[in-house]
Amino acid sequence: MATPQNKLAFDGGWDYDPAPESTDHIKLQKRYELFIGGEFVAPGKGRYFDSINPANEKKLARVADADEADVDRAVQAARKAYKGVWSRLPAKERGKYIFRIARIMQERAREFAAIESLDGGKPIRESRDVDVPLAAAHFFYYAGWADKLEYAFPGRRARPLGVAGQVIPWNFPLLMAAWKIAPALACGNTVVLKPAETTPLTALKLAEVIADAGLPPGVVNIVTGAGKTGAALVTHPDIDKVAFTGSTNVGRIIQRALAGTGKRYTLELGGKAANVIFEDAAIDQAVEGIVNGIFFNQGHVCCAGSRLLVQESVADEVIEKLKSRMETLIVGDPMDKNTDIGAINSAMQLEKIESYLKIGADEGGEMHQSSARLPSKGYWCAPTIFTNVAQSNRVVQEEIFGPVLAIQTFRTFDEALTKANNTPYGLSGGVWTDKGAKIFKMTQGLRAGVIWANTFNKFDPTSPFGGYKESGVGREGGLHGLDAYVRLGAE
Ligand code: NAP
Ligand code: MG
Repeated sequence: MATPQNKLAFDGGWDYDPAPESTDHIKLQKRYELFIGGEFVAPGKGRYFDSINPANEKKLARVADADEADVDRAVQAARKAYKGVWSRLPAKERGKYIFRIARIMQERAREFAAIESLDGGKPIRESRDVDVPLAAAHFFYYAGWADKLEYAFPGRRARPLGVAGQVIPWNFPLLMAAWKIAPALACGNTVVLKPAETTPLTALKLAEVIADAGLPPGVVNIVTGAGKTGAALVTHPDIDKVAFTGSTNVGRIIQRALAGTGKRYTLELGGKAANVIFEDAAIDQAVEGIVNGIFFNQGHVCCAGSRLLVQESVADEVIEKLKSRMETLIVGDPMDKNTDIGAINSAMQLEKIESYLKIGADEGGEMHQSSARLPSKGYWCAPTIFTNVAQSNRVVQEEIFGPVLAIQTFRTFDEALTKANNTPYGLSGGVWTDKGAKIFKMTQGLRAGVIWANTFNKFDPTSPFGGYKESGVGREGGLHGLDAYVRLGAE
């Protein structure tokens, strides 16, 4: 039987039958402890919080809330493992452990994908086809580097930094954990990782994989909790390196706290990327790219194409096609394989998105939403576009982190470039044109860490990722990602 959220506005009035991923193959505990020194241990103060499913507001599990003393225990365990085992292990052996994590993750891919969608609200198609395979690919990729650092840094000796404190957000919980842990381990560091409060479950599943892979105790420690736990970790005096992915605001707080300490850090922060469509672009392909760029993962993507700059001569055609494509997007149950847009990650995030819808309308923007019917329980936002917006509007300037696209037009190449760069952020961008020369000119002019041409939101472990301006400091991924975890010296 079709569920109401699967009702499509097709003229023929037919629905897709639901195609839900089963959950009988997943194992979730009622309560999760902290993963410290290779064991699951209770938090000192005995406090726990709930992780819920944002699609139905039901509790999935109780999760330990780590305080400063717990974080300290984890850092000590990481230090001990660093000194005693991990930094002394032959690089080839380190590689084998990381490889094993990747293999086990692949074997349990279905379970990881289902838990990611339950805990975070993203469509199962994405967690199954994007998040989990990419997370495994990161472990495979960095497993390969472990014993080849002399080729990564020819003529110099790469030494590990020590203990890395890593804090990640809720939009790609498992993938961000992989981005952080894999290169750190490959270079000989040990880690303490704090997942986001609303999406801790796949990181805790990863802790089980790490234990099953036989990693020496303390090489990877996972401490769950809210922002306070993250703050305790990044300001801990015995951390050698901080790796943070999250909002620019928290990134600033961390940067201030670390100033003058001599600690190494990388910050992957917010974005407000522009997708630039020239009149000579393949329009249907470009419309698909825009949809993928902003509605993918409910717009919970730091590098989302949340602004569209379209050449005036094709603007009407693009907007019309976009509106018609929006009508066919299925908003609803993240566990259904037909779903295109899942649940907003939390009540707080939904409130933030809704406040921006109001801001956009108050600023004079023309708002259009798809007519998708939203489920009554859970947190939902229909795909939304704003036209008639100006460069100074807040919906054009600020990161909304939801399925909301601000559309502007341009006449000339230079106008497009100026508008695209006119933001405090510089994480990503997209260009759609038939002309190679325009692509090169645009990629040279855009101040953004990643630029996609005639495609959007494509990732690969070999490719570096990171921002300019307020989008961050440093790069993750690829060869560049190793750099953040080593001290380089003479041979
Ligand atoms: P956030 O509020 O900055 O939180 C990120 C992480 O930091 C969470 O684990 C959070 O814990 C923790 N945290 C909060 N306050 C902290 C503090 N004072 N010190 C240390 N850690 C602290 O960001 P978010 O809202 O979860 O995530 C969305 C943001 O992440 C967006 O701005 C997005 O653009 C950015 N992002 C960037 C990238 C990138 O690669 N550039 C990738 C993904 C996301 P709690 O969750 O418990 O609050
Ligand atoms: Mg959750």
